[in-house]
Amino acid sequence: NKFKEGLAKTRNAFVEKVEDLILRRKKIDEEFYEELEEILIGADVGVNTVMELIDDLRAEVRKQKIEDAAELKPILSEKLVKLLKGDENNSLRVSDNGLTVYLFVGVNGVGKTTTIGKLAHRFKQQGKKVLLAAGDTFRAGAIEQLEVWGQRVGVDVIKQQAGSDPAAVMFDAVQAAKTRGVDILLCDTAGRLQNKVNLMEELNKIYRVINREVPDAPHEVLLVLDATTGQNALSQAKLFGDKTGLTGLVLTKLDGTAKGGIVVAIRQEMNIPVKLVGLGEKMDDLEPFDSEQFVHALFA
Ligand code: GDP
Repeated sequence: NKFKEGLAKTRNAFVEKVEDLILRRKKIDEEFYEELEEILIGADVGVNTVMELIDDLRAEVRKQKIEDAAELKPILSEKLVKLLKGDENNSLRVSDNGLTVYLFVGVNGVGKTTTIGKLAHRFKQQGKKVLLAAGDTFRAGAIEQLEVWGQRVGVDVIKQQAGSDPAAVMFDAVQAAKTRGVDILLCDTAGRLQNKVNLMEELNKIYRVINREVPDAPHEVLLVLDATTGQNALSQAKLFGDKTGLTGLVLTKLDGTAKGGIVVAIRQEMNIPVKLVGLGEKMDDLEPFDSEQFVHALFA
């Protein structure tokens, strides 16, 4: 089970602490709640969400007249599933009449290129024809890095020289995708934050070019966030939030953090579904997000 392996650090840090607490205190009292609160905040679940969660647990404990702390574990896990699930559909939207286009946004180093490579691999395995667009024309080496992934996975990359207009690259990529009968076009973008206004304008221009060429595209605008950066990831999410028409989140490097609770915090604050999670550096280490599998991998 990919989730179980990838979430080992979080499981060890967070769930073992919860289990230890249950064994140690046995009874649900004020101190139990306080310690549970600390553990959840320590796992980066986010203070507001923790408060809500604890209030919910208290209500449940009163309602069901629970005294034994061990009975709280399944209830906690069920509440977490619910929080993570939200109301939206977390599967990736696919065009029903041809070309599907996904735009990946996020700051440098979060794992955009890697995620695109992994997703290309996944779609290719499903028999889809995939094309990549090298829209990060700004960062030195970004185009080459995408090409390395393209070669590894066996898909073509549409590119121009470094420094060229990313919207022009996207225009080319969409034309090429149409001509070649591509199913899925995955578009990389720049992630420099030194000039926030320009970046947002650039992303909007890219969006418009794609949308002009393929009327229902982009089908997803996915913000990629590095889970190991904790609360920083949350501020990035807010920064991109309402400016780029985000439709979903990708949380990378969950294998590298003991604070996987950040997924819950981000989900709560953003009200945008988490659609994919990165669980390692290899081609196969990307999974569609499933709140039940996620929580069960932690608690089982
Ligand atoms: P970009 O600048 O956003 O395109 O980021 P990259 O795709 O270049 O990724 C930056 C680093 O993070 C690389 O060393 C990747 O191998 C690594 N990385 C990306 N996703 C994951 C993941 O899910 N788990 C781990 N452990 N490393 C990852």
